[in-house]
Amino acid sequence: MSAAAPTERYRAISPAEFFYKYREIAGFSNPVRALYQAVRELVENALDATDSHGILPNIKIIIEKADENREFYRVTVEDNGIGLPPHVVPEAFGRVLFSSKYILRQTRGMFGLGAKVAILYGQMTTGRPVEVITSQPNLKRIYYFKLRIDINKNEPIIIERGSWRKNRDWHGTIVSMTLEGDWSRAKQRIKDYILRTAVVTPYANIVFMTPDGEIYYYERVIDKLPRPPKEVKPHPYGVDLELMKRIRDNGSFSTVKEMLMKSFQGIGNVTASSLLEIAGISPDLNPKSLSDKQLLELVNVMKNYKRFRSPTSEALSPLGEEVIKAGLKRIYDPEFVEAVTRRPSAYQGHPFIVEVGIAYGGKVPLSSDKYPTLLRYANKIPLLYDEGSDVTTDVVKGISWDQYLVKLPAPIIVLVHICSTKVPFKGVGKESIADVKEIRNEVRLAIQEVARKLRTYLSKKLKEEEKKKRVVSLAKYVPEVVRALTIILGDGHGAKAKMLEEKLVEIVSLRTGIPKDEVYKVVKSVEIGV
Ligand code: ADP
Ligand code: MG
Repeated sequence: MSAAAPTERYRAISPAEFFYKYREIAGFSNPVRALYQAVRELVENALDATDSHGILPNIKIIIEKADENREFYRVTVEDNGIGLPPHVVPEAFGRVLFSSKYILRQTRGMFGLGAKVAILYGQMTTGRPVEVITSQPNLKRIYYFKLRIDINKNEPIIIERGSWRKNRDWHGTIVSMTLEGDWSRAKQRIKDYILRTAVVTPYANIVFMTPDGEIYYYERVIDKLPRPPKEVKPHPYGVDLELMKRIRDNGSFSTVKEMLMKSFQGIGNVTASSLLEIAGISPDLNPKSLSDKQLLELVNVMKNYKRFRSPTSEALSPLGEEVIKAGLKRIYDPEFVEAVTRRPSAYQGHPFIVEVGIAYGGKVPLSSDKYPTLLRYANKIPLLYDEGSDVTTDVVKGISWDQYLVKLPAPIIVLVHICSTKVPFKGVGKESIADVKEIRNEVRLAIQEVARKLRTYLSKKLKEEEKKKRVVSLAKYVPEVVRALTIILGDGHGAKAKMLEEKLVEIVSLRTGIPKDEVYKVVKSVEIGV
């Protein structure tokens, strides 16, 4: 008897269904995490639509309870950004893996996922659709959409749409969605997230209204925006066979040489010729006639070519030292603040820049006794989870802070920002950065550079404090000595006493290096017994 034929049922699933099933990889694992992640995705989209396009952001975040009996929350985020063309709205919010950010330019979003997974989560937990109101600067109307996602087809379903005339100059986007959340357990994270966002966006007005009726307002303190990122071509070191095939099949170049020069950064006439010579391909060949084998050869030659310039950093948008300092000041009002933006570096053909800011004293909270409080950022996004597995944590822990005169626990914050066209995140939840040797080195150098400035400041402060202590120890004798001397010298009207005091103050000032008027103050304070 023959065995029954095995029966397996085969089918493909859509990207929407995939992320609906595996939403935890995008950070939507439970109602606590989901509420936090939804806020985050909408805020990041709002910031991408503003500061990356040269607009000083005004962002409003509202979280409201949306049902009397159930833990439903309505999250609304409004921005004054570039808006979306109305015909794009349904796909931007209703088709997973649809994005304007699949280009080589630093952005916060990058997977074409964030808003959609949040919408999917809202849809499956509350059944309520997402609402989008948007207008672009050049448009005369404001557009309104209510939609949901068809999970099987990975397509938007428009439930309602409309538009009205603009009677003021508004542009931007308002996104509103309802999802099941756990505000009481998520609120600390969400507040932290918004606070940490405010630290690196001193050029933004941010208003945040909570379901508890609290209002947080972070007012803009600087009108300077970070340099907006430019779109760039790929660097030849990042090339692979598939990319080459796509360029061959989709490009319209008349020669192979032109294809190389126009598709990659850093390939000019001379470099193109020598690459093709090494690969044994005629420069005038029509690219469409290149075989896969020839393409593979070309890829190998490019990967092993030693003379390319390092990747351009034009696609990057570092915060800059001024913004970092203004941001730390806005939130922590520290007694010391310094920052550094390192020069661009690269790993595997991807450019990156590391920036570090250190704030000390003032309203900076006390750190742990192991290492300074760390604020991690990647492409201007605060990273809150998985601190332990992040390469920057490791670097910060490895520094001996007492060398820099920091006695832990101390009121110290170390802010580390890594920006890149490809941040090596450990997952699509974007919470921690993998250990890449080049990045680790830059982070260490950047922290050391700023920490040295902190050491200079702290050592000066220590010296000042010592001087002050000496002044106090000397000044406390002045009133007594004056009294004793005036008794010996006889001084009915106090004229000599005044002169004697002045002389003694001068001597103390000379011996300690503290100005006379300050010594005088100390003398007065010991006199009245403060
Ligand atoms: P990602 O941000 O990774 O591209 P999202 O699903 O979060 O993916 O957003 C999809 C696209 O919708 C974005 O690429 C962007 O073009 C557009 N978009 C989303 N939110 C906004 C907004 N507030 N303003 C302008 N465009 C937006
Ligand atoms: Mg996004």
